Amino acid sequence: MLVSLVLAIGLPLTTLITWNIYSEYRGNDAAVKKQAAAITKAIAVRAEITLSQTRVKLQEIAKRPEVQAMNTSQCDPFIVDLRKTLQTYANLFVLKTHGEFICSAVNRDASIDIKTEYPKVYNRMMAGDDLELISPIRGEDTQRWVVFAAYPVKDISNKLLGSITVPIDLIELAPVINSDTLPAGSIIRLIDSEGLILSNYPDADVVGKYDSDISFSSNKNRSGSSLIIGLDGLERVYSYTRLHGTEWIVFASLPTEWAFADFHFIGTQLLFSLLGVLMIAATLGFIVVRHIVHPIHQLQQDAELLAQGHYDHRSQVDGNNEVGQLAATFNKLSQALETQEKERRRNELKIKQLNRVYAMSSQINALVIRVKDLDELFSVACKVAADAGDFRISAIVTVDPDSKQVTSIFSAGEDEDLLNNIKAYLLSPEGMQKSIVSTVIETREAIITNNTKSDSRIIYGQQYASAGINSMVIMPLLIAGEAVGVFALYAKEIDFFQHHEMELLLGLTRDVAFAIDHIEKQKRVNFLAYYDELTGLANRALLLERVAAYSHKAKIGGHQLAICLIDLDRFKSINDSFGRPVGDELLKQVAQWLTNKVVDNILLARIEADCFAIILPLVKPDGHLEKLIENTMAAFLEHPFRVASNIFRISVTTGVALFPDDGNDAENLLKNAETALKTAKRIGVHYLLHTNDMTSKVAGKLAIENRLRNAFDNNEFILHYQPKVNICTGKMVGTEALIRWNDPQVGLMQPDSFIPILEEIGLIYDVGRWAIHQAIEDYLTWRDAGMDCVRIAVNVSPLQLRNRYFCDEIEQAIAADSRVADALELEVTESMVMGNVEQSIRILTTIRNMGIPISIDDFGTGFSSLSYLSKLPLDTLKIDRSFVIEMHTQEGRDMVSTIIRFAHALKLKVVAEGVETEEQLRQLGEFDCDQMQGYLFSKAVPAEVFKSLFLSPSLVKAKL
Ligand code: C2E
Ligand code: CA
Ligand code: CA
Repeated sequence: MLVSLVLAIGLPLTTLITWNIYSEYRGNDAAVKKQAAAITKAIAVRAEITLSQTRVKLQEIAKRPEVQAMNTSQCDPFIVDLRKTLQTYANLFVLKTHGEFICSAVNRDASIDIKTEYPKVYNRMMAGDDLELISPIRGEDTQRWVVFAAYPVKDISNKLLGSITVPIDLIELAPVINSDTLPAGSIIRLIDSEGLILSNYPDADVVGKYDSDISFSSNKNRSGSSLIIGLDGLERVYSYTRLHGTEWIVFASLPTEWAFADFHFIGTQLLFSLLGVLMIAATLGFIVVRHIVHPIHQLQQDAELLAQGHYDHRSQVDGNNEVGQLAATFNKLSQALETQEKERRRNELKIKQLNRVYAMSSQINALVIRVKDLDELFSVACKVAADAGDFRISAIVTVDPDSKQVTSIFSAGEDEDLLNNIKAYLLSPEGMQKSIVSTVIETREAIITNNTKSDSRIIYGQQYASAGINSMVIMPLLIAGEAVGVFALYAKEIDFFQHHEMELLLGLTRDVAFAIDHIEKQKRVNFLAYYDELTGLANRALLLERVAAYSHKAKIGGHQLAICLIDLDRFKSINDSFGRPVGDELLKQVAQWLTNKVVDNILLARIEADCFAIILPLVKPDGHLEKLIENTMAAFLEHPFRVASNIFRISVTTGVALFPDDGNDAENLLKNAETALKTAKRIGVHYLLHTNDMTSKVAGKLAIENRLRNAFDNNEFILHYQPKVNICTGKMVGTEALIRWNDPQVGLMQPDSFIPILEEIGLIYDVGRWAIHQAIEDYLTWRDAGMDCVRIAVNVSPLQLRNRYFCDEIEQAIAADSRVADALELEVTESMVMGNVEQSIRILTTIRNMGIPISIDDFGTGFSSLSYLSKLPLDTLKIDRSFVIEMHTQEGRDMVSTIIRFAHALKLKVVAEGVETEEQLRQLGEFDCDQMQGYLFSKAVPAEVFKSLFLSPSLVKAKL
């Protein structure tokens, strides 16, 4: 800049001065050349005058008759005389055309034959018709340089006769220059056409030598001048002039040093002034630079910085001048820009923040729509918040709605240590209670803090701040107005959670809460669609799906698959007698028992109230299936289910269908298993495998109702008798009549298989009445045969008991014979009594008053309350066989002994059923059990067998 300024000021001046120097130089150059030219001219003129005088003289002489005569006698005296008047010439001589020496003013030495000795000179003398100059020679006598000037002698007819010649001392021609006026080193020289130096100033010694430096001689101009650096290295101004009428050249050479002396002086002056100018320019420049350029340059840099975005930069340029004002304006501008920029940045940040929240919101909303699992919802939502939302930490904490304690924490983010601290804190009940999470849950209001460090509500505020968390929000997840958890977001920015962010985030939190609600409801719907709510087992729909999946595997594996349907016998009556809650609990226990048995509960389902299904995925055709079913059923029957204070032993009926034989798809397979189950129930078997030809069999069996009716009509029912024995004495003290169906097609059928059907079809009244009459008849027969009879206990169905004619019937039955009252005892099950206690008490009291004892049968399998038992008019309590079976365990023994003590307390006799081992008998004896009944003593046997085996002739009769 400075340079350009100095240039700006200095350049015009410098140019001016330089131009001046140049013009001066040019002027001087011309003057010097002029001077040199003047010198050469002066010399040339002088030489020309001398020559022209000589020409005139010789011309005159040549015309003289003394010369024209061309003989010595005439010529010689004339010449000698002439010489006297012409002292300028050293000699005068005439030659004849052939070179003969005619006459001479001095030294008339005729012996010189010019023609032969100096042919060149001779030829030149004779050649021309004007004055001819002949190259100089040094005179032998004078030792001076002379030049011969010859003029032709012609007669009137212009015929050449000879020549008149004079030697001219070169002094005459030599330049006479006032050496004072010439500078040292100047040379004035006369040379001929060949460069022979004819005269030289100042050094005369070079005369006669050749001038080697005559470049200009080739120049045909008459005169000229130039600047030449000579051989001596000196620069000179050369000027030359040709002598008129000759080839001679006069030249002057003046050294430039001198020639330009004036110029140097002026040039130096000019140079100094130039320097001065430059210095002034520099000073001016400095001032300008200092006060204008530098500040402007500074301002330019400031502007550069501003352009680069350094809006906080302020110019340091000051002062009251224009530049200072410019700087002030500049600073105002940058101040405004800075404010604007800050605003812009704030907005940009705001938009960025909002965009983050938007991105996170939309991703989580997409998640909310598709997700079906709460864990996935929570963990992915946290991750999205940390990734797309760029939150340092995001967490979803769920709480138990009742205890308000944390049930789960899902989180994502960078600060694992801090996260673990927060988790540990929230998971401790005291920590949770003190935490703001708890406050949010309680108040159901979001808590926002935009500066964690200074917020006293935040327990770990300082820790958060040092972990780079400066804002946080904890929002409640509300379902139906209840907070089920919180969604917490931790941001690194201070003041992150502003109005717009919160609007979005609260909306998002509502969506997450909605999703939680939705998923839970959906889960419930799904559960209900596929699961039995009571037992948690699969329902029919899910069973079908699973059977489909397993049958596909079976098909690939080439093996069989079975569905076993297990139907609880008489569940309905349990339900009726003990109420739904007991029935439900029982079903739960059954489900549990089956789950324990089956191992994998995905193979289990409850498809109806009292019907369970088991999938056996791999069935081998070796008959093990039947064994397995039998074992399972036996184990089931033997298992005592305890509900409240009741113990239930439940028999089951099983229907089985095999894939692929019994159905190619799940639906058909299940249908056929159900058919098998129904059939099993109808025909009174405990289990039935569906077979392809079963349909025909079933068709036959479907008529079972009729068959049973026929059986009744055809007297196919018979009574078997099983003795009851006094444990102390070992003697038979009674017997129980147990019905059998002597089916001509199947053989002897056990009562469990047909009694439910008889009850179902109402035939039980007839059959039951028949049983009582038959028992009385047998008793009377035995007595009439003189046997010592024991009381016969007859089982009574609950339906019979509730029949309002029942008491009358009994009355009629015993009315026939006065002894019959001793013959009969009735066994009623606890369930039949508990159904309607008041009514039962009335009926039983009526019967008992007829002298007929009452036994409570199957005790322990259904009584809900022992206190009721004390109100019942009973004589005997029969401990169910299932308790006796359990007597190998301490618990079982305790149970049996408790029942015995309890019964004794109620003044009841106790009969243990199903005693099969000596051990059981011994223990029962120890427990003071009164009687036993069981295979240990005898099975139930036909009446005839009973009579012969166990009855003995009456002592009374014998005595009679
Ligand atoms: P219940 O009244 O409990 O009859 C006792 C059952 O236990 C009989 O089975 C009997 O044969 C069996 N039993 C006795 N001692 C043992 C033993 O040591 N081991 C084993 N394993 N079993 C033993 P049953 O004859 O099959 O009768 C089954 C049920 O049918 C009877 O149970 C009773 O509830 C019912 N029942 C029998 N006859 C009649 C009847 O005439 N009318 C009514 N309504 N029900 C009857
Ligand atoms: Ca019985
Ligand atoms: Ca019994």
